[in-house]
Order: sequence, then C-alpha cells, then structure tokens
Amino acid sequence: MVYDLILKNSTIINKEGKIKQGQNIYISQGEIIKISDEFINANNIKEIIDCSNLFVTPGLVNLHTHSPMNIFKGIAEDVDIYDWFNKEIWPYESKITSDDVYYGALLAIIEMIENGVTAFADHYFYAERICDAVLETGIRGDIAPTLFGMADNFEDEFKRISHLIEKKSGISNRLSLRYGPHSPYTCPLETLKKIVDAAKYYGVGLHIHMSETVKQVEDSFNTYNKTHFEILYDAGGFDVPIIIAHGIWLSERDLRYLSNTSYFAVSPKTYMKLSMGMGNIWKYYKQLKICIATDGAASPNSLNPLEQARLFALLGKLTYKATEYRIEEIWEIMMKGHEALNFNTRDVEIGYKADLVFWDLNKPNTMPVYNPLASIIYSADSRNIIHVMVNGVFLKRNGKLLIDTDEIIKKAYIHSKKILERGKGYANIYF
Ligand SMILES: [Zn+2]
Repeated sequence: MVYDLILKNSTIINKEGKIKQGQNIYISQGEIIKISDEFINANNIKEIIDCSNLFVTPGLVNLHTHSPMNIFKGIAEDVDIYDWFNKEIWPYESKITSDDVYYGALLAIIEMIENGVTAFADHYFYAERICDAVLETGIRGDIAPTLFGMADNFEDEFKRISHLIEKKSGISNRLSLRYGPHSPYTCPLETLKKIVDAAKYYGVGLHIHMSETVKQVEDSFNTYNKTHFEILYDAGGFDVPIIIAHGIWLSERDLRYLSNTSYFAVSPKTYMKLSMGMGNIWKYYKQLKICIATDGAASPNSLNPLEQARLFALLGKLTYKATEYRIEEIWEIMMKGHEALNFNTRDVEIGYKADLVFWDLNKPNTMPVYNPLASIIYSADSRNIIHVMVNGVFLKRNGKLLIDTDEIIKKAYIHSKKILERGKGYANIYF
C-alpha cells in the first residue's frame, strides 16, 4: 500500500461536531483509508503534512446556487424581489451568452474554494459550460440544467438536457447531474410529470425552487387550490431525491409529502436582502433536512456558506430563542449537504473521500479557542481556511488558491462590461 498523504497530528471535527485530537489521517487515491492516533513512518509515504494546530473537518457544501450569476453580482441593488427578477435579472439573463456563463461559473468556483466549499449544487442554463468549469477546477459539482416547462421550446430543451444528463453522468467522480425544473409556477403539471419520469429513468434527482414567498404560495393556492409541495407530490416529485431551493414558506400540511431524501437549501442572506421574510422553516429546523446554500451571487453578493450558516443561527435566535439553534445543531446543518449529494464525502472517516477543510484558529479573529465550533461558526472567515482539499488534491494550500485566479478575474471583468453594453432584453416569464 502506498500512502499519497498523511495528515499528521490533526484535530478532527467530525460531521456531528465531535472533536478528536492527535489523529493521523492516511489518504490514498483520494480516499481516507486509515485514521490512527499512532503515527508510523515508512518509505511508502509520498508526503507527510504536519497538522498540529489545525482543525480538519469535512468540506463545506453549498446546496443551491446559480454559479454563473456571479457575473451579475451587484448589478441589481436596493430593489424588491419582484423588480429584482422582472425588471433586472430576467431581462439581463435573456441576453446572456454561454461564455458569460462559463466565466461566471469559474469566478463562483474560485470564491467558493476560497471559502472552504468542496461541493456545490448548481441550477442554470448552458449547464455543459458549468460542467466544464467543475472538471477544470477540481471542485465537485452537482449540476441541474434549468428547465422552464411553460417555455415554447420545452420539448426540445427537455430532450437536449436529457441527452446531456445521459452523456455527462459518470464521467468523473466529481460531477453529477440532475433535472432542474425551475419551479412549480413555471412548469405546468404535465411537464413536471415528464421531468420526474425521466429522473426516475436515469436514476437522478431533482433540484427545484419551491414556496419562496408568501405571494407564490397564495397564487398557487388561488390558481390550483394546491401548494407547490402538493403540485410536486402530484407529479411524483418526492419519489426521487430532491433539493428544494428555499421552500421557506412551507406549511404544516406540506410536511406529510416530504421523503427522507427531501433536502432544503436555505440562504438567509437572500431572504434578508430581498425582504422575503423568514417563512416557517426556522420553526421546523429540528425535523426537516435543512442544508446551507448561498443562492446565486446576484442576490446575496457572496458565495460563503459559513456566512449563511451564521445568519441562519442568528435569525433563529433573534426571532425565537437564544438557547435554540445551538452550535452543534448549526454544524450538523452545515454538514447535512454532503448527505444530499452523491459524492461519498460526508465525514472525516475511513471509506469517505478526502474532501477536507483545514482551519487555523490561532488568529486574532478566532483566539482564544475555548470552543472550536463556536470559533468557526461565529468568528472564522476565509483567512482561517488554510487548506482546502477535494478528492485528496489540494485546491487551496497555505492560504492560496492553486488555480490561475488572475486570468479568471480578467475574463470575468471583460464579460461584465459586455453584459452592460448589451443591456436588458425581453423576458417572457414573470415572477
Ligand atoms: Zn435559486
């Protein structure tokens, strides 16, 4: 046995927040193959890294984003959610090109790696270009090509996307795909059913926006006498693994439809910035499978799951109780995203992929460290994230990204200029 790497004398924080000091983590071919408190040096070890003074945790997961929207970051400020969609984002998006998507996605990926993200779930158009960005950068991506059921070209797009899912699935253990029907309000029931049947056929999941605002829930009720959850249930949507983007305004009656593979991707910064309210999801945080997400950068202006987790805890405490939304619970919510994705990365344990974040908490913003989880959740930022590893490969090391970020930033700047030059087009959808 050849060991590619040994992380010597690490302090592990596992997915439940349990801490174990003095651990040696042995990695081979991208996988954790041994963890021991005994360190044995041998000549079949390629590299040893001293991790004394570092906390080693599973990577962070961003369970819902629109990575290419990094190219729109800051383009629509101080508007409500309706103007944000209808007067700003959708008109700009109607003129977006596949190159804008590619450089927006790359920009998102470098920001996410900087912030400790090892896997993300994405939802956007020109998904093949996002797949390219994932494969080129070393991160893990679960990509859902967006589908609008009410679009004139739905049948053609559905075929094209089904072909893409078939073609790209299984080409890398860092890439997975699933169907991305936009939402129950943009996908009529018969199109949702068709998408669910195809997801079952290909053995993939769904990623869909649901019950994001009070108005959406009311409109759905007035039109169909059903909630979004009931419509999706009618389409068979809960028979497959599902990422529910937001779903914050779910009601008591919606809870019965959820399966044990229904995961909620929650992004408090977007809800605050666009005045969407908190919905009911905070009330159910112990019983639902809540995961952390950032949403696309055009609303929260950052792709930082740690910031979102912090806001989730703080909003919960502000609204409900200081003794609830405890740090161990928030940590488990931060880790839950691994379970929603099919990458076998959910813990620092033998048999899991080596997707790890190395935290240096010996810094002014986090010292002294009485409680490492509190230091991470309430004090840390990307400066404390010293190394980031995916599949046993470092993507950030000694505080620096191992990707040519200058080139990506330069290209993203050029594309942002082109977006402004082209201006807004006409969007035939309405939020
Ligand atoms: Zn979204």
